[in-house]
Amino acid sequence: MEFNTKNYDYLIVGAGPFGMIFAYEAAKRGKRSLIIEKRPHIAGNTYTHTEHGITVHDFGAHIFHTDNKEVWDYVRQFATFNGFQNQVIANYKGSLYNLPFNMNTFYEMWGTKTPQEAKDKIEEQKQAALKDLGDRQPRNLEEQAISLIGTDIYEKLIKGYTEKQWGRKATELPAFIIKRLPVRFIYDNNYFNHRYQGIPVGGYTQIFEQMVSDSNGLIDILTDTDFFDHKETLLSEFPRIIYTGMIDQFFDYQYGELEYRSLRFESEVLDNDNYQGNAVINYTDAQTPYTRVMEWKHFDGLADDGKTIITREYPQDWDRTKEAYYPVNDERNTQIYKQYAKIARQTQSNILFGGRLGKYRYFDMDQVINDALNTVRQEFNIPQDFNFAHDKIESNQ
Ligand code: FAD
Ligand code: UDP
Repeated sequence: MEFNTKNYDYLIVGAGPFGMIFAYEAAKRGKRSLIIEKRPHIAGNTYTHTEHGITVHDFGAHIFHTDNKEVWDYVRQFATFNGFQNQVIANYKGSLYNLPFNMNTFYEMWGTKTPQEAKDKIEEQKQAALKDLGDRQPRNLEEQAISLIGTDIYEKLIKGYTEKQWGRKATELPAFIIKRLPVRFIYDNNYFNHRYQGIPVGGYTQIFEQMVSDSNGLIDILTDTDFFDHKETLLSEFPRIIYTGMIDQFFDYQYGELEYRSLRFESEVLDNDNYQGNAVINYTDAQTPYTRVMEWKHFDGLADDGKTIITREYPQDWDRTKEAYYPVNDERNTQIYKQYAKIARQTQSNILFGGRLGKYRYFDMDQVINDALNTVRQEFNIPQDFNFAHDKIESNQ
């Protein structure tokens, strides 16, 4: 099979945000790309579709949140964002708590009413549980969590969720994972601290469709096409490649497998106007096999046909037959990744590795977009202060 029939400038492996943005920005600069994608659709894990007037996120809830003004302006060129703020409820064995950890959670857990009362309670629990911590940094997720919010919240809202999500003990996980969640001493249930937040009205897929239609024919996409089914041909036919798949797979796992965590999603359409009264409910005990339940109509409040769609998210072990959703950025994997990054630099000067899997980083969408734009800056010698958000291609139509 011949791929580079149109003298493409780039082969892009993966039609997720990283690959799509690179192709779009390359098209702005007159460069032609072929994107190959092993799934039947574009948009990677941000893919959404609409059913019963409800926008469903096929690979888990995707809420856009960032402090990066350029990235925020960039995505808003392609869609109108609603003002959705994620306000997650935790269900621990039938009792409900507000997330992230804030004055509401502390009141629900302990009846404390002032910041000082809550801080005293946390300090008391921290001292009792982590006697030897002293001035040293927490060594793992459990120590980090207890030092931030004490043992009660750790036991009820973190331990069970974390251990089923990651498939290992919280003492064997890196501390940074729990620092994704805010801890606040005000009454504020916003799951993120970022200034700019929302979800594109109509979903994410349209953003990437628009990039293709605005590219003046310079982007072609082959879906249902796996790079590894044609690796040698593709490597020999294309002068420059952007690769957003798993970096260890690219190198045939020669330094060993990196670890990933996988997920399984189970969705249901219900003849029920309002199933759970909130967009996301987390099940934080160890026994419930899923971590969270999303009810999609609550992400935009638009649908009203008497039906609702819910999705349960089940964590599962990763193996080579499953999708790699999360990198596990612990010490061991970080060392292995460094070996792959080194061999990539040394032997693959015509290939750029990017995105969550190519860089093996727990990137959110805004970080991936920022990384993609920086990669474009390097590739095209664009000055650091150039603002991509003010540079949209005018559509032909
Ligand atoms: P991806 O979106 O993973 O795209 C990579 C693409 O490459 C995929 O389509 C894949 O099929 C394709 N591919 C891989 N290997 C091959 C191959 N061999 N051949 C051909 N194609 C290949 N971020 C947020 O900002 N907010 C959120 O609320 C949020 N929620 C999330 C919830 C879940 C459950 C998950 C898993 C992620 C979430 N994210 C969230 C992160 C977000 O999904 C990623 O930041 C983003 O999708 C990364 O973009 P990417 O292009 O690097 O990778
Ligand atoms: N977490 C938890 N309890 C919760 C929600 C999150 O212990 O109710 C922990 C868990 O370890 C999780 C991490 O916080 O992996 C980060 O949560 P986030 O919601 O950012 O995870 P993601 O949306 O990326 O899966």
